Amino acid sequence: MEYEGDSMVGFGSRYGKRIKELNEKILAKSRSRYKCPSCSRTAIRREAAGIWKCRKCGAKFASDSYEFSE
Ligand SMILES: [Zn+2]
Repeated sequence: MEYEGDSMVGFGSRYGKRIKELNEKILAKSRSRYKCPSCSRTAIRREAAGIWKCRKCGAKFASDSYEFSE
């Protein structure tokens, strides 16, 4: 029983580290700029969850919450 408890603790801490790394990747993606399909300039910024706006031509796009894809 003692061994089982230890292995659960080890798994828990590894899982927590992976979640933290994943969150940092998602944040970096949501903060980066993407190429605008309308004017081809790299000016797409995240305006809200799932809403992306081009700062050059003003076009708005609905995409993923944290990553822009055409
Ligand atoms: Zn644009």
